[in-house]
Formats: sequence, C-alpha cells, structure tokens
Amino acid sequence: MKLVFATNNLNKLAEVQKMLPNSIELLSLKDIHCFDDIEETATTLDGNAKIKANHITQKFGFNCFADDTGLEVESLDGQPGVYSARYAGEPSNSENNMQKLLTELNKNQDDNKNRKAQFRTSICLNLNGQQFLFNGICKGEILTEKQGEKGFGYDPIFQPEGFQKSFAQMTSEEKNTISHRGLAIKKLIEFLKANA
Ligand code: IMP
Repeated sequence: MKLVFATNNLNKLAEVQKMLPNSIELLSLKDIHCFDDIEETATTLDGNAKIKANHITQKFGFNCFADDTGLEVESLDGQPGVYSARYAGEPSNSENNMQKLLTELNKNQDDNKNRKAQFRTSICLNLNGQQFLFNGICKGEILTEKQGEKGFGYDPIFQPEGFQKSFAQMTSEEKNTISHRGLAIKKLIEFLKANA
C-alpha cells in the first residue's frame, strides 16, 4: 500500500519508513507532485493535522497522514501551542521565538516559578475512508537560558522531565525515544501494523 506522509522533510520520512513493514510504501509530498502551500488555519493541533491530511486525500486520492506539533506552557495558558512556529511573528525564526517565550515567562511575576511545559504532537491518519488521531506528549520545563546546540526550534530551552539536560544536548536517537513526535509516531506505526 502507498501511504503519503504530508511532509517534505526527508529525514522524518526515512525515519518512519524504517519502522514500517515493507508492505507500506511511504511517499513524500514531492513524490506525489504536491507543491501546494497548505494553510494551517485551525486553532488546534488536531485541526491543523486534519487540514493537511484531508487536503492530500481529497485532492490526490491517497491514504495519508500529517503531523502538527506545539509547545504548551502551563503558566501561559497553553501558549504558544498551535502558534509555536510563528510565536514571534512571520517569517518563523527559532531565536526570536525562544527570546519571546523567555521574556513572557519573566513578565509573569505571579507565577514566576511555574515553568512547566509540554510538547504535543498530533497525527491525523486518513486510511481507506476513515480518520484516526494519535497524540504524543513530552512533559518538561522551560529553562531560564539556552543550553546546547543540537536540534531545532525550542530545543535549547526545553528540559524533558527526568533529565538534567535540554533537548538540544541530546543526540537525535536519545531525543526520539522520549519525544512527543517519537511517541505519536510509535502509536501510528503500531496501528498501521495491525490495520493496514
Ligand atoms: P511542526 O508542526 O513540526 O512544524 O512544529 C511547529 C513548531 O513547533 C516548529 O516550528 C518548532 O518551533 C516547534 N517544534 C516542533 N517540534 C519541536 C521539537 O521537537 N523541538 C523543538 N521545537 C519543536
């Protein structure tokens, strides 16, 4: 079976393909000649994952899954959440996003000690006319300053629960075993092995 992963990130694609049975052939957006700028207009991660997966299934007719991830900070009522990529405005810039988040947390005098946060990934799968959602959560806290050089996005200021280092101080293998995206992908793979 052919299955589209609505991404152009070939690293993500290769990583998932390795975990799938050979009977499932994973295709990227480029593989199906989709160069559309799919606007993520929903106000939830599930909503955006659905928009992307539905666009592919409706326009191109493929079984498909799409993911969307956000960083939810407890004392900021779950912000930046679905707006994580563009928290400090467009175009998306990780440095500016991290600075804005650190500034917002410092402003928050009443709740200054609460730096709890979680990354959440939502995956929407459209399979043979049915839709399924999978979530992965990684709990942790926002550090007071950046630590580490690896990774991307908010990695230097996020420390996962049970660790004394940031995501940006972990190897990608180490991060994948505990990360929001890794956990959501694992649920998707188990489901596909049993149902596809
Ligand atoms: P996306 O839905 O995977 O594109 O993620 C949206 C935004 O969330 C990214 O632009 C990053 O700023 C942030 N993000 C997602 N996953 C991670 C992660 O694993 N580490 C750090 N930041 C992330």
